[in-house]
Amino acid sequence: MKKYIGLSIIVLLIFMAGSIHAFEIKAVWAHPGDLGKNEADVKAFFELLEKCHINLVFPLVKGSGGAIFWHSRKFPEAIHPDYKDFDMLGAAVKYARQYNIKIHPWLCDFTESKNSAAFRTHPEWAQLNPQGGYTSDEKLGGGRPYNPIWMCPVRRPGYVDQWLIPMFEEIVREYDVDGIHHDYVRYPGDVAPDSYCFCDVCLEHYMTYNHFAYTNRPDDRIGLKIVLPRKESNWINDLTLKPADWETMLRAEKALYLLEGKSVNRNDLDYYFYTTRCDAITSFVKEVTDRCRVINPAVEVSAAVFINPMRSARHIGQRWTDFTPWVDILAPMNYRSHFQGGFEDYLAYLMDYVKMQMKWAGKNSVLCPGITGFYIYREEREPWEKALKLLESKGNAAASGDLSRIMRKNIAYLERFSKSRAGELSKVYDAFCVGTVTGGEMVKAIRAVLSDPPQGFFPETKFLRTIKTVKKSGAKGIVIFSAGILSRNKLWHVLETCFIR
Ligand SMILES: [Zn+2]
Repeated sequence: MKKYIGLSIIVLLIFMAGSIHAFEIKAVWAHPGDLGKNEADVKAFFELLEKCHINLVFPLVKGSGGAIFWHSRKFPEAIHPDYKDFDMLGAAVKYARQYNIKIHPWLCDFTESKNSAAFRTHPEWAQLNPQGGYTSDEKLGGGRPYNPIWMCPVRRPGYVDQWLIPMFEEIVREYDVDGIHHDYVRYPGDVAPDSYCFCDVCLEHYMTYNHFAYTNRPDDRIGLKIVLPRKESNWINDLTLKPADWETMLRAEKALYLLEGKSVNRNDLDYYFYTTRCDAITSFVKEVTDRCRVINPAVEVSAAVFINPMRSARHIGQRWTDFTPWVDILAPMNYRSHFQGGFEDYLAYLMDYVKMQMKWAGKNSVLCPGITGFYIYREEREPWEKALKLLESKGNAAASGDLSRIMRKNIAYLERFSKSRAGELSKVYDAFCVGTVTGGEMVKAIRAVLSDPPQGFFPETKFLRTIKTVKKSGAKGIVIFSAGILSRNKLWHVLETCFIR
C-alpha cells in the first residue's frame, strides 16, 4: 500500500511539474531599477532571467510619469535624468539577443506628469474633466494627491500622433526588439472613472463620431418621431441628438448631457460616451500596430489589460475583446488586489477568470494571465502593516497599546526564518518601549523587514499555487509582476524550478 502511495505521489509530482513545463510564454515585467544603470547590471539581470527560464521580458521604457529609458533622438527632453549617459534599452536588447529572450519594451501609454516634457510643452494635449481640470487636480481617498496627468487619446494633432506613436515607431525602427508592450492603454479609472475626457476636441468628437447631427445640414434639428407603438422602437427613424444650444453650453453642461441625456426613452446617452471612449482606445491600438508593422512586419504587440473587458469598457474605455486583431499577447492583470476574499477564494476566482479570459481573447491573441508575488501575501503583510499604522498614527505613544501584542507575534514569526533578524528587531523594539529609540526608527526597522525579508517569510507555496492555478486553467503563458517583487520577496528560485524550458 505504502509503495502505491509513494508511486502515486511520484506520478502526481511528474504530472504537476509537467503541467508547468507546458507554458509557452514565461514573461516578466521589469522596471529600470531591475535592469540597472550599466552594462554589467543589465547582463546580470538577463543571466538571472535565463536561469529562471523566462523567455519574454517587458522592460519599462516609458514610465507612468512620462520619463523614457531609451536614447531617443526625437524626444531627448523626455529621457530620465539618471539614464542620459546609459541607453538602458540598447543594453537590454543586446543581452536579450545574447540570452535568446524575447523583448517587448513596455510603455505606459496615456500618462504623463506635471513636470514631464510632453505636458510642459503641450498642456493642451491633456484630458479635461467637466470642470476643465486635469487628472492631477483630482484627490484620492483621504485627500491624497493624484499625480498622473492623463493625455487625450482623441485630439489630433495631439499626444497620440505627435508623441506616443512616434515613440513606438522610433523604438521599432532603432532597436532590434521582438515587440512592443502597451500599459495604461485606457482612460483613467482609479480616479473619477466617468469624468474624462471632456476637452474641446472630445466634446465635438462625441457629436460627430456618433452622428448626433448632420454635418452637411448642421442646423437641422430632428426630434423623435413616434410611429411604432413601443416607444423604444422608434430609434429606427434617424434623429439628431446634438442640442440646439450646444455651442453656447458650458463644458460642465455638455458633460452632464453626455452622461445623463436621453435619446429615445431612457437616459441612455452615456452608452455613446462609453462606446466612443472604447473606440478611441481601440483605434489607437490598431494605429500603433499598423504603423509599427510598416517598419517591421514581424513586430509583435502585447498589452497589459484589466481582468474583465466588459467592465473595463464601461469604466476605463478598455474593451480589449476589440484589441485582438492587433494584439498578439493579452496579459490581464489578475492580481489578488482585484479580487475580494481570502487566498483560497482568490485561487478559485483566478481559475474561473482565466478560463473566461481565454474565451474573450479568442483565437487571434494568446492569453497570458498576469499575476504578482505581492498581493498574494496579504495575510503575511497585514500584521506588519498594522504595526506601521499604529506607529505612524501614535508615534512614541504606540509603545503602551496594542503594538506590543502585534510585535510579539511579528517577532516570533520572523524568528521562524531568521533568528538573527528577529533578535535585531526585538532589540530595537525593546529600546523603543523604554524610549531610547524613536517611533520613526521603529518604523524604519519594520520597513526593513518588509523590503528585505528572509527567505520563506513570504511562503513560496502561495506563489507556486498561484502559478499552478493559471496553468490548470489552460493558459498558454504567464506574466509575472514584477522582477523587483520577485527579488524583494525572494521568489526567483520558484521560477527556476517550475519554469524549466
Ligand atoms: Zn479629449
